[in-house]
Amino acid sequence: MVLIAIIAIVVSVISVTAVYYGLFENQVRNDLAVNARLLKDADLFEDLNTDLKELEILPEDLRVTWIKEDGEVLYDNTANAEDMDNHSERPEVIEAFNNGEGEAVRRSTTLNQNTFYYAILLDNGTVLRVSTDARNIWSIFFQAAPVILIVSLLIIIFSIVLSRMLTRDIVEPIEKMVENIDDTRIEPPYKELVPFTNKIRSQHTEILSAAKMRQDFTANVSHELKTPLTAITGYTELLESDMVDKEGRKHFYQEIKKNANRLLLLINDIIKLSELDHSNRDESFEKMNLYTTVSECLEELTVNAQNRNIELGFTGEDAYITGNRSLIVELVENLVQNAIRYNNEGGKVWVEVHEGDKPKLIVRDNGIGIPEADQKRVFERFYRVDKSRSRESGGTGLGLAIVKHIVEIHDGTIELKSELGKGTEITVTF
Ligand code: ADP
Repeated sequence: MVLIAIIAIVVSVISVTAVYYGLFENQVRNDLAVNARLLKDADLFEDLNTDLKELEILPEDLRVTWIKEDGEVLYDNTANAEDMDNHSERPEVIEAFNNGEGEAVRRSTTLNQNTFYYAILLDNGTVLRVSTDARNIWSIFFQAAPVILIVSLLIIIFSIVLSRMLTRDIVEPIEKMVENIDDTRIEPPYKELVPFTNKIRSQHTEILSAAKMRQDFTANVSHELKTPLTAITGYTELLESDMVDKEGRKHFYQEIKKNANRLLLLINDIIKLSELDHSNRDESFEKMNLYTTVSECLEELTVNAQNRNIELGFTGEDAYITGNRSLIVELVENLVQNAIRYNNEGGKVWVEVHEGDKPKLIVRDNGIGIPEADQKRVFERFYRVDKSRSRESGGTGLGLAIVKHIVEIHDGTIELKSELGKGTEITVTF
């Protein structure tokens, strides 16, 4: 507002001064012309032999110069005519000799004055020139300067006060809304702020739920770590007591080993999840063939499947995606391991890779299936349909959470279809 006020003041001062000075200059010229014609009509200068003393009636603020045809100055009411130069070269005089009248302005850059000349040809062939000094545009401007300055200051002060008041009026309702950002009943004060408010509110809710999720996760992690550790401590205490025979000791050592391994699995998965939380998409992404990666992964899982007497099938075609190899390996391993883990003796697992605009990975099994009610929740951290089955087969409850995370990092989608007792099909689309 202050800037606009300053610009407005400067522009109006410049234009008003220019217009005013134009009018003023015209007035000065007209006055000179009228004076010259009056003097001509008064016939004072018709007779070349006029007694020059008679001419002293002329007013002093109007300079009058009388010039002969050859440019010699006959008379000047403000100077001594004999001392003056020949005036035949003056533009207004030349013009008057040629056209009957002529005018000129001589601008002085240093003095705050301009001199205006008007020359008129008399009937006897001489030229009468009148001239006057008038203030130039700068002097007028400088005279007006103090007033302009005071007015400008007042306007600037006024605009500062006004802009403060306006800012306060605009910001106050926003601040009020910000204080109550959670309260959706409080509407944004301006409709222009609706998208902004909605965005802030949804982000706010996201932040809160993320915080809640972290809290839940920490609680879950502590609980999950506690169970095997409690078991380990229990077994070691029993071993310490020396009351266990050789057979019993062997069993306890095995249990300790099993629980320690479980702890390792859990910690590995937790580390993976936290790495995924912080991983940067572009850093480690490359163009890769989904087909070859999957087929390499499956080779390693074959033993696993054979141990459980499960048939592992694979079909597909070259399909190129931009992704992180080790994350894709992790994803395939988790999905196929689940298909093996939650299967029946002699069951089947099929893996397919499809190329196309959006390459696809499908992992299908004819295992135990997932009840409809649990299907939505299996991607949550530590969610397990059957806790003991998961634990016994080396599950941590984090596998599908990791899978979902990896899919998100790859800008993909994951779809789960399952029927209890018939099997499960998971499709990842890149
Ligand atoms: P877990 O380590 O327990 O396998 P996941 O996150 O991988 O954890 O899976 C969550 C739960 O989803 C599992 O505990 C299991 O109950 C169920 N689930 C996952 N995959 C399958 C599948 N292919 N068939 C049946 N149930 C499955």
